[in-house]
Amino acid sequence: MCRCGHSATFDPYGLWWKFQRKMWDDDLGKAREKFWCARCKARTGKRVRPIRLELVQPSKDDIQLPMPDEREWKRALSRFRA
Ligand SMILES: [Zn+2]
Repeated sequence: MCRCGHSATFDPYGLWWKFQRKMWDDDLGKAREKFWCARCKARTGKRVRPIRLELVQPSKDDIQLPMPDEREWKRALSRFRA
């Protein structure tokens, strides 16, 4: 959610995978720094950080990010189950 009123949601699995690949900290507070508003970017050319980042129910409007391939995905799942 940006102060301009624009908000976006992401597919949680693809987003998680992006953070894994980049070795980013997935703590929500720190994750905020990785996002910026596409609308403000288009208008001002600046990367405006969101004022709020929160977990919401997945929906069909979520922005889809690339998913890990089958093997990676299974390996990741087994790590969580361990
Ligand atoms: Zn904005």
